[in-house]
Amino acid sequence: MENQLQKIVNPLLAWYDTHRRALPWRIDRDPYHVWVSEIMLQQTRVEAVVKYYTRFIRTLPDVRSLSEVPEDRLLKLWEGLGYYSRARNLKKAAEMMVRDGGGVFPDTFDSLRKLPGVGEYTAGAIASICFHEKVTAVDGNVLRVVSRVTGSRENVLLPAVRRRMESLLLQVLPDDAGSFNEALMELGETVCLPGSAAQCGECPLRGNCTAFRDGIAAELPVRVKKTQRRQEQRTVFLLMTEDGRIAVEKRPDTGLLAGMYQLPNVEGFLTEEEIRVAAETWGMQVLDIAFLKEARHVFTHLDWLMKGYRVRVARPAGAFLWVTPAQLREQYALPTALKPFAPFPTAWKKRGRHSSGEQE
Ligand code: SF4
Repeated sequence: MENQLQKIVNPLLAWYDTHRRALPWRIDRDPYHVWVSEIMLQQTRVEAVVKYYTRFIRTLPDVRSLSEVPEDRLLKLWEGLGYYSRARNLKKAAEMMVRDGGGVFPDTFDSLRKLPGVGEYTAGAIASICFHEKVTAVDGNVLRVVSRVTGSRENVLLPAVRRRMESLLLQVLPDDAGSFNEALMELGETVCLPGSAAQCGECPLRGNCTAFRDGIAAELPVRVKKTQRRQEQRTVFLLMTEDGRIAVEKRPDTGLLAGMYQLPNVEGFLTEEEIRVAAETWGMQVLDIAFLKEARHVFTHLDWLMKGYRVRVARPAGAFLWVTPAQLREQYALPTALKPFAPFPTAWKKRGRHSSGEQE
């Protein structure tokens, strides 16, 4: 992996030398210009930022003027970019620079990180581009290029993966780290585009790119978001007749566990009294109720927390199918979620003729 990144340094720098876009914040390597442009670029594409940037710098040409601008004037300049907290942070940071450093821009990664609204990426960009510090500046574009060049299928949304990629880049950073960082970003923004838009035919790295070699550029980088699971409490009924038959019912043909057979269950944790009432409304006469166990089942977007009860009944109701444990085991596909409450070992795997596939 290291060697692969080492091999891209020279072709990338040579490409950047001739292909870099002429952008107003690249005219000089003034930290104020780079800083303002980077904050604006966090939310908008380059083409749109040029207009805002030009007006902003014309109105507020330096740290001191930014520190003194009235807030409503500042927000007016920011209008259309959104995320007004970023504009407020710019002003706060400028005030801090004037108060603590006489208006002089901090010149190291560590001191830049102390400014409000300046994260690792922005600090890395300013420190490397303006002050020649050998630090990385890793944004989404850079993660995409690195994932593809190295053919990494690791989830780039995980901090540990990001750290690993940063450290691989750090190992190959040339003396002109600023140009290298800019070149990587530029390549990600103009050539190594997301999804199937990657322009591999025009890419200076294709000779050293695993994704290009394997034809998997469109699949990388891998981004897996943590899903927010809804938790749901359920009460599960193991309804049993005196001769040992068990109530099952078919789930609706659409939605969660579509078309599968299940033990009757309802939302919420019911008290024994509520369990009795529920069984009676189903038309049964309850003989006794015994708590069985608690269980949990995690679906993709849902988390079932379940409490199961064995309810012996005298009058089986017609709303359910009443089957023997053997029939349940042999002929009905019970969802994994409910197997802990079934009257047979949970290791049971056999599928019967009613199996419909488990959509969990
Ligand atoms: S060859 Fe294609 S996938 Fe590889 S870095 Fe270049 S543009 Fe990206």
